[in-house]
Amino acid sequence: KHLKERQRLPVVPLGIEREDFYNALEELKEKLDAEHVEVNDKPLRDGWYMEHPNTHDMMTILDEEEFVASAVVYPSTTEEVQEIVKWANKFLIPIFPISMGRNLGYGGAAPRVRGSVTVDLGKRMNKILNINPEDYTCLVEPGVSFYALYDELEKKGLRDYMWIDTPDLGGGSIIGNTVDRGVGYTPYGDHWACHSGLEVVLPTGEVIRTAMGALPGNNTWQVFPYGFGPYCDGIFSQSNFGIVTKMGMTLMPNPGGYESFMYTFPNEQDLAPLIDIIRPLRIASMLENVAQLRHVTQSLAVSGLPRSKFFSGTGPIPEDIVHAEASKSYVGDHTWAYYGMSYGPAHIRAHKLALIDAEFHKIPGCRKIDPSKLPEDEYFWSRDRIAAGIPDIHELRWVNWAPNGSHIAFSPVSPIRGTDATQLFELGKKIHGKYDIDFFPAFCVGLREMHLIVEIVFDRDDPAEKKRALDCLREMVDEAADKGYGEYRTHLVLMDQVAGTYSWNDGALAKFNERLKDALDPNGILAPGRCGIWGKRYRGFGWEM
Ligand code: ADP
Repeated sequence: KHLKERQRLPVVPLGIEREDFYNALEELKEKLDAEHVEVNDKPLRDGWYMEHPNTHDMMTILDEEEFVASAVVYPSTTEEVQEIVKWANKFLIPIFPISMGRNLGYGGAAPRVRGSVTVDLGKRMNKILNINPEDYTCLVEPGVSFYALYDELEKKGLRDYMWIDTPDLGGGSIIGNTVDRGVGYTPYGDHWACHSGLEVVLPTGEVIRTAMGALPGNNTWQVFPYGFGPYCDGIFSQSNFGIVTKMGMTLMPNPGGYESFMYTFPNEQDLAPLIDIIRPLRIASMLENVAQLRHVTQSLAVSGLPRSKFFSGTGPIPEDIVHAEASKSYVGDHTWAYYGMSYGPAHIRAHKLALIDAEFHKIPGCRKIDPSKLPEDEYFWSRDRIAAGIPDIHELRWVNWAPNGSHIAFSPVSPIRGTDATQLFELGKKIHGKYDIDFFPAFCVGLREMHLIVEIVFDRDDPAEKKRALDCLREMVDEAADKGYGEYRTHLVLMDQVAGTYSWNDGALAKFNERLKDALDPNGILAPGRCGIWGKRYRGFGWEM
C-alpha cells in the first residue's frame, strides 16, 4: 500500500526475468527515443474519460493490477511499429496495441495479459492523412478521434458538405472503434462496413496494405474496399492478427436537412409489438439510422443523478419509484422511449415521418414528444447531435448512478423480432434481479438485427459489487447462448467465455482462428488472448478465464 502511493514496482511479463526485461527495454529505447518508452511504475490513476490512463482499465471489474501494462511505447511511424513488433519477437514479450484506449465498458486501455507492453499508437500517430471531398472519403491514423475528424471538417469548411459518423462517445479513435466493430447513429453507423482499406503491421513485422492499397499507384484504396483475391480485412477486426496503422473511411454527404423524433410507449409489454412494427420500417430504411429504444430506468440514470438520490435501499430500484421520478420528465409515466432521426429536405422527411407516426400509433397510448418543449441540456439533444454526426459525451452521465461509477456491457445480438426482444429482456431482468443489480436495457436497432445493450453500472472501489456484476454478466452470457444468442463484442474479462459460445461443430471456428494465429504470429506476441484467441505458446497453460 505504502509503495503504491508513491511508486509501484512495475509488473513484468510472466516468464521473463526482471533484469532481462529492463535490458530489452533499453534496446527498444535505442530504436525509439528513450522518452517514448515509459515503464509503468507510477501509481495507477483512473482519471476520467477525457484524461484516461493508457496503463490499465480506468473502470476495472477485476483488481486494477490484474490487466495492467508493464510499459508503454509511443511509435510515430509505421516503421517504428514494425521495429517494436520485431523487438517483441526477439524477446518474446507480449505487446498490446491500442489506438486511444477509450474503449470504456470493454476493457479501456488494458491489455489482456498482465505485464504486456502497451503500444499506444494514438499519441504520436494522429494525422488525418487525407480528406477527399469528391469521393467523400478520408484516410486516418490511429490517434484520430471522432472529435478530431469533425473539427478538421469544420476547419476546412467541409462540415456543410460531408458528415462523419460518431458512436455514443466521440472521444475514442476512429480506427480503435472500427476494428472493434463499434457502431454509430447516422446511416453510416456500421463503421466496419463503412471503412475502405487498411494498412497493417503483421505480428512478424511485415507491413501490408489491403484491397486496392496493394496496387501501386492506385487511386481507389478508399473507394473500393475489396480489391482482388480474398477479402482479408475481416481478420483484422476483433482479433490479434495485426496492428492497423492506417484506415480509409467513407463519409456521408450532408443529407440536406434532418430532424430528430422521439416517441414514448406506456407499458413494458409494448416491447414485442413495437419491435415487430420497427422491423419492416428499419429494413426498408424508413427508420434510417441505428435508433435506440430505451427503458425508463435508463432515462432516469442519464439525468446524471446518483441512484442514492432516488432510493437508499438494497436490490434493484423499485419500479414505482422509477416511474414516479420519470414522471417529472418528458418520459412521463411511460416505459419505453424511441429515439430516431429522419434525413433529407423537409418534404422528403414529412413523408417518412407520417408513415412512422401512423405505425407507432398502433401501440395504444403511444406519445410523440415535441422537441421544441425540451430544455437545451435534455438527453434528447445529445441523441440529436450524435444522429447528425456531431460528437458528444453526454451519454457518460449515467455512470454517476454508482459512486466511483464504472460500467461493463452485456450485448447480445438478435433478429428484430418481438419474441426475441422479450426473451432477452426477461432473461436480463431475471438475472439482474437475482444479483440485486439495476437493469438498464437499450435496444439498438441495426438493419436486420439489433443489439440489446445492457450496461451494468458498478462502484469500482467495491470488490463485492464488482463480483456481483461479473457473476451476473457471466450467467447472462451463458443463458443467452443456451437460447441461441451471442455477443457482438465483449469486455476483455469475458472474451474467452464469449468466444467459447461460438462453438458449432466442435469449436471449428476457434480452431480456424488458432491456425491463423499460429501462422501469422508464431511467437504469439501480439495481444495474446484478445477475443479468446491465444497463440500456441499460451494455449493449455491456464490463461483462459
Ligand atoms: P478507442 O480509442 O475507441 O477507445 P481503443 O484504442 O481502446 O479504442 O481500441 C479498442 C480495442 O481495439 C483495443 O483494446 C485494441 O485491442 C484494438 N485496437 C485498437 N486500435 C488498434 C489498432 N490500430 N490495431 C489493432 N488493434 C487495435
